[in-house]
Amino acid sequence: MAVPLLDLKTQYAALRDEVVAAVTGVLDSQQFILGATVADFERQCAAYCAVPHALGVSSGTDALLLALMGLGIGPGDEVITSPFSFFATAGCVHRVGATPVFADIDPASFNLDPAGIEARITPRTRAILPVHLFGRCADMGPILDIAKRHGLFVIEDAAQAIGSEVGGRRAGSMGDVGCFSFFPSKNLGGVGDGGLVTCTDAALLERMTRLRNHGSHPKYFHSLVGGNFRLDAIQAAVLGVKLPHLDAWTAGRQRNAAIYRERLADLHSDGRLVLPSDPPGMRHIWNQFTLRIPGRRDAMQAFLKARGIGTEIYYPRPLHVQECFAYLGCRPGDMPEAERASAEALSIPIFPELTAAQIDETVAAIRAFFEGA
Ligand SMILES: *Cc1c(COP(=O)(O)O)cnc(C)c1O
Repeated sequence: MAVPLLDLKTQYAALRDEVVAAVTGVLDSQQFILGATVADFERQCAAYCAVPHALGVSSGTDALLLALMGLGIGPGDEVITSPFSFFATAGCVHRVGATPVFADIDPASFNLDPAGIEARITPRTRAILPVHLFGRCADMGPILDIAKRHGLFVIEDAAQAIGSEVGGRRAGSMGDVGCFSFFPSKNLGGVGDGGLVTCTDAALLERMTRLRNHGSHPKYFHSLVGGNFRLDAIQAAVLGVKLPHLDAWTAGRQRNAAIYRERLADLHSDGRLVLPSDPPGMRHIWNQFTLRIPGRRDAMQAFLKARGIGTEIYYPRPLHVQECFAYLGCRPGDMPEAERASAEALSIPIFPELTAAQIDETVAAIRAFFEGA
């Protein structure tokens, strides 16, 4: 039996009629850009994320770009971030003309380690950009403390973490801006690209609202240079159908994660693999279930592939050693934990609709690899 890394068709089949009706409603209205459908969805998202304001945007990447632009971060500024993330996190810092400054990750969470941040603060530092990777919130208590002490902004890259919590606080509600993605493989996925920014400050909301639409206010009068970062009404309509199901899907991912953690526990205990941890006091939403297979990750991936089990390596090369960032002067060895994670990490199927038989198959294949079957 094949076990895909992600199967969107099962989820779509259950919602097909509602989704088609929502899209048809937008087609009938011929109102495709922003408008009431987007505004309704923004209100739903703000409530879900426990934050006063939310703005729909064109992608998670554009959410990051808009956050940086909204906070006025640009040339000469430095932003401290994680080297173990999707490229957009650091790419957007570069695109606004600022400099990404990497601090290593905590191996237990794959997230920015607060202990490495302060040593990287300079007079040019303007913001800290933690990523809530794989659906688990970064260690926000210390990060917010450091930011407060040094007068820095905090931008949360919550692209993989809608509904995730730490210390009872929701992803995207803790920093100055939260950035979300509705790329189809995220826990709340659209039928194309989409994203969202969240914030508390009304003046910042106003600035980001203008920047989302070329800095225009009123129409054709520009006090700022923005871009086209608008969310399509069709995306908002589909996402509005899906959002009420998100908590049930999250519960499915949490159930699957608990099964894997229980049934692979002995392999974790004897050090053959490392399970992702799920400490108390957090709401982990498991966008990915990421194992570490020290020394044998690529062999494990090939073994599972031969048995029809989909996996992915998030991420095979850390950002500080990407070719495009050679100008930063980072060297292999500078971020040892991010580099080790890149060599060991392997994400296995965790989507909510996984069947018991598919989980059995995946667990059996992982065990067979170590037993030499
Ligand atoms: C997906 C993702 C993004 C970018 O989102 P897009 O919607 O694909 O532009 C940014 N950061 C992280 C951590 C992501 O996972």
